[in-house]
Amino acid sequence: MAAAVTIISALALPAQNDTMKSKPEVLVPRPSLESVPSMDASKKVLDTLDFDDSGLQIVLYSDNTWKYYKGPGYILDNSVFDEKWTSNYPDSYRIPLDSIPERTTIWVVDTLSDYRCPDIAKIYSPFGYRHGHRHSGVDIPLRTGDPVYAAFAGKVRFSKYYHGYGNLVIIRHENGLETFYAHLSKRNVEEGDWVDAGQQIGLGGATGRATGAHLHFETRYKGYAFDPQRIIDFESGELRNRVFTLDRSYLDIRSRFDSDEKANLLADSKSVNTAREASKSSPASSTSAVYHTIRKGDTLYSLALRYHTSVKRICALNNNLSSGTTLKLGRRIRIK
Ligand SMILES: [Zn+2]
Repeated sequence: MAAAVTIISALALPAQNDTMKSKPEVLVPRPSLESVPSMDASKKVLDTLDFDDSGLQIVLYSDNTWKYYKGPGYILDNSVFDEKWTSNYPDSYRIPLDSIPERTTIWVVDTLSDYRCPDIAKIYSPFGYRHGHRHSGVDIPLRTGDPVYAAFAGKVRFSKYYHGYGNLVIIRHENGLETFYAHLSKRNVEEGDWVDAGQQIGLGGATGRATGAHLHFETRYKGYAFDPQRIIDFESGELRNRVFTLDRSYLDIRSRFDSDEKANLLADSKSVNTAREASKSSPASSTSAVYHTIRKGDTLYSLALRYHTSVKRICALNNNLSSGTTLKLGRRIRIK
């Protein structure tokens, strides 16, 4: 209940000076680097109530639990759904790679949204080059007729038969990511439809260029595919992190999520736990100093998120460190 109370008090805050944005801030009581399990499919939605004019909703479940949820009214008022919005091509952006920032921090799921693994199984064909061909997604086994679910809420940008993809559904999400679901035997959604996370968008199949039924699943940013395994562990069905730092180098067909990075992620979650333990044992004490050694992809902002502190506070603890400092790999900085 504590988290809910926090959200209510945030909603009660008066709107900021910015008249365009009167929406409440999305609070994040849970650690951003925690993994997120696939939605509990057995949980039935009893009712959805509008909370206020912001488009925020209250979802009531059959087990008497409830949660706040960002409905279409909340999410669709977002310029991401106007940008290069066309159903002519799977890649509607068609922009040069170097126009994309070197690093982008993306909230994949926050506490007001949901996630469902589109198909939980061991991947049998990974992202990358395959027999000299570009394979811009992952292949996950399923049977023809098995339901395929939207991983996240969003708006359907594309739903049609398209060459090798066969029946293809593309959903754009509020964070700018797009997810592709290909080779479907049936499409249940049309262009422009709003879909909730976990909504059945079609049935698995083998349409297009496919040998046998499987789901070809892609994750893209600004039209460029990156390895979906960077955000989803398909075997467990879990989303690896709520926050994903997308390095521009990932948007290359040769950039595959590998076991090294998996190990790094594990190390990350361990260091989060260490930091958590440290703050638990002696809160706000100067004896519980926490250090971090800079690795590839680290930014002050991502460290602040990870350790639940602020860039300003980190900078105050270190000599020669400001928000504009380039972080050298291997540099050990004090976090707390
Ligand atoms: Zn494929």
